[in-house]
Amino acid sequence: MNSTTEKRIALISVHGDPAIEIGKEEAGGQNVYVRHVGEALARLGWQVDMFTRKVSAEQDTIVQHSQNCRTIRFKAGPLEFVPRDDLFSYLPEFVENLLKFQKEEDVKYNLIHTNYWHSSWVGMQLKKIQGSKQVHTYHSLGAVKYNTIENIPLIASQRLAVEKEVLETAERIVATSPQEKEHMRSLVSTQGSIDIIPCGTDIQRFGSIDRQAARLELGIDQQAKLVLYVGRFDPRKGIETLVRAINESKLRASNNLRLIIGGGSTPGNSDGIERDRIESIITELGMSDFITLPGRLSQDILPTYYAAADVCVVPSHYEPFGLVAIEAMASGTPVVASDVGGLQFTVVPEETGLLAPPQDIAAFASAIDRILVNPEWRDELGKAGRKRVVTKFSWDGVANQLSELYNQFLQQPVKEAKLLLTK
Ligand code: UDP
Repeated sequence: MNSTTEKRIALISVHGDPAIEIGKEEAGGQNVYVRHVGEALARLGWQVDMFTRKVSAEQDTIVQHSQNCRTIRFKAGPLEFVPRDDLFSYLPEFVENLLKFQKEEDVKYNLIHTNYWHSSWVGMQLKKIQGSKQVHTYHSLGAVKYNTIENIPLIASQRLAVEKEVLETAERIVATSPQEKEHMRSLVSTQGSIDIIPCGTDIQRFGSIDRQAARLELGIDQQAKLVLYVGRFDPRKGIETLVRAINESKLRASNNLRLIIGGGSTPGNSDGIERDRIESIITELGMSDFITLPGRLSQDILPTYYAAADVCVVPSHYEPFGLVAIEAMASGTPVVASDVGGLQFTVVPEETGLLAPPQDIAAFASAIDRILVNPEWRDELGKAGRKRVVTKFSWDGVANQLSELYNQFLQQPVKEAKLLLTK
């Protein structure tokens, strides 16, 4: 059995598979976060095992990303995609498989970092069973989400209870923005210990190409005024607001305006349904000739799209952090975003972009136009955005902060955690 001081960590992400293609239904920021944090921690000398749920028999059980970093997939419920809201009853099987895996590999995870509320429940069981120290990142708070949607799912009360318990019992909660911390305190609990460590991005890849070269590569006119959206097709992402704002743009009548909406979808699934809805709005407004939907953009091509754009728009109804905003900023492209959550932390209005009230079509239209009509200001905003991301939001910087946090808990004997539990 390994000693307690060995730098070994389990990152648990039940529904957000870190080894999967990003940009499809339910695969978004959390997958990117876990994968990059895992790889950056491994570069810092951590032994990183990332645990997720297997969604088909064809998937490999173990994916090795680098020498010290791998994804391990467990069966929990049927070997098929299950929407997040239906996953809870399969979690005991996930815990059982994790305990079995520890036995087989002769390891014990004294330190676990859980992601999203399902994983927090898994983590709390490991804490009860074997005294593991738990760090938790929410990625989304039920208490916030249920304020912004009409149909509250059946699982809501379970989720809210789990989210409160983990805040009060985990060794540390990682909030990714001051705004998220504030929501935890005002909506979840005043107890528990919270640190703010943001999400990060790849500052080498994003920012590696300039606008002119990117447009040449993508075959986009150098004179075009290009607006970009990147993200999942989900009504709460606010794509409709963006499309309607572009319809109201002062530049609508020119032949120069273009909008690209990047993101994957599967026909018939919830993201496919949202894509159809957006496409029918585009047709209804007569905008099909200057709006394109290229589908999922791979992480390799994304830096080129961000660089090609004059402005990237993040019109979400709510966003706990919003990776897309910092990816665009890292690429030197200003951001127009909803004035909510983590976007209020990453985007500095009038300095790196502009903020508009969520779902406010006129405010989005005027913010987008202000940047499109002033290329010099666009460049200034872009430069300041890049600088902000380089100094605050690189994955290596984020992993360094997490590593320091984990080290505090590795130095505490595991027995102590058990004692605390019995108090
Ligand atoms: N993404 C991607 N390809 C796409 C659409 C999205 O790689 O076609 C990535 C995007 O680059 C970002 C993540 O998915 O890293 C979305 O994260 P964000 O925090 O913005 O939103 P979430 O999906 O967590 O709601």
